[in-house]
Amino acid sequence: MTATRVLVLNSGSSSVKYQLLDMRDSSRLAVGLVERIGEETSGLKHTPLANGGASREQTGPIADHEAALKAVAAELARDGLGLDSPELAAIGHRVVHGGRHFTEPTVIDDTVVAEIERLIPVAPLHNPANLTGIRTARVLRPDLPQVAVFDTAFHTTMPESAARYAIDVRTADEHRIRRYGFHGTSHAYVSRATAHLLGKDPSEVNVIVLHLGNGASASAVRAGRCVDTSMGLTPLEGLVMGTRSGDTDPAVIFHLARVGGMSIDEIDTLLNKKSGLIGLCGDNDMREIRRRIDQGGEDAEQARLAFDIYIHRLRKYIGAYYAVLGRVDAVVFTAGVGENAAPVREAAVAGLEGLGLAVDADRNAVRSGEPRLVSPEGARVAVAVVPTDEELEIATQTYALVESGKSE
Ligand code: AMP
Repeated sequence: MTATRVLVLNSGSSSVKYQLLDMRDSSRLAVGLVERIGEETSGLKHTPLANGGASREQTGPIADHEAALKAVAAELARDGLGLDSPELAAIGHRVVHGGRHFTEPTVIDDTVVAEIERLIPVAPLHNPANLTGIRTARVLRPDLPQVAVFDTAFHTTMPESAARYAIDVRTADEHRIRRYGFHGTSHAYVSRATAHLLGKDPSEVNVIVLHLGNGASASAVRAGRCVDTSMGLTPLEGLVMGTRSGDTDPAVIFHLARVGGMSIDEIDTLLNKKSGLIGLCGDNDMREIRRRIDQGGEDAEQARLAFDIYIHRLRKYIGAYYAVLGRVDAVVFTAGVGENAAPVREAAVAGLEGLGLAVDADRNAVRSGEPRLVSPEGARVAVAVVPTDEELEIATQTYALVESGKSE
């Protein structure tokens, strides 16, 4: 029997998201989520898509990641999709930070685990959680290939001129301070899918990708390779996000410490969790912000300001990446806001006809889960909406690596 299934694991600090895919046709056999790991009210939601089955939910204490993965394995086994199945080819793990070292998906061994561990100082929130998932999965299936797919890998092609901050080189190198970028799996998938939408090979097109979810980042992709991206050492830099500020003058931090009397941890929380859209207007959900604006009245004012700041930043990045690329074939919107919020797409390119950018109102209003063009017929630069699919990309990269290993 050929093994064609890949289990994708995305382990957060208190959650595990998973999908089981069959790589013969990229179909999903099961998806699920374990939340609030370590609490009394942990929850597991499992949906066996293969058999068209209904979701199963359970609540109750799940002590740690090992217990969580065992619970997931038990749910999968109930559908005949257990981790011991000979059809399972590999497990693909999302790993947030691969530093400069990991430029490609990598089969996990002890050395790889040690290297991901070494990167914890630059990814203190994410890499420990990702590692817990990896360690647990290796214990459960020590014989099975496990692959790490890094959020940073797609951005390792950035030239030094884009990747370096203009700070003292020795200090930067000593502390590994540089721009790494994140959401790379999404940027890779969406830029490639955009080329296909245009009927071209990725090597033939230059694309600006706008990944607008609760976290948000832009990238400039030349001929399939990332040449700049908006997130930096951490996911805090760049666009206005749901709860993150994006770009600020670094001196804001000195000011808050010296004049505002805030601790570094307080400032970290302020900029990562209490800023962006939620800091500006009390809501981080673009649907709610649009509803407030559309309803009008007093409640609309702050929401409108938050929207305007969000759009202003977005337009600055579109302009910047236009200049970085020189020639742009497509601007593509993806993730929760990018895929669903027509007013954001419209405002992002309004008045940019001089750059060849426009949206067609009717096309932009269409709601669909399919990749599509929203620019007018015959536009010089395509404006597109391409739903992202990070799990599929992780599964595809994992499977390709495992299969290529077999033929060597
Ligand atoms: P993501 O991080 O990609 O899951 O995106 C989540 C965000 O997408 C939410 O916080 C919302 O702001 C946004 N979103 C989801 N659906 C819509 C919609 N129909 N209209 C506007 N924004 C949406």
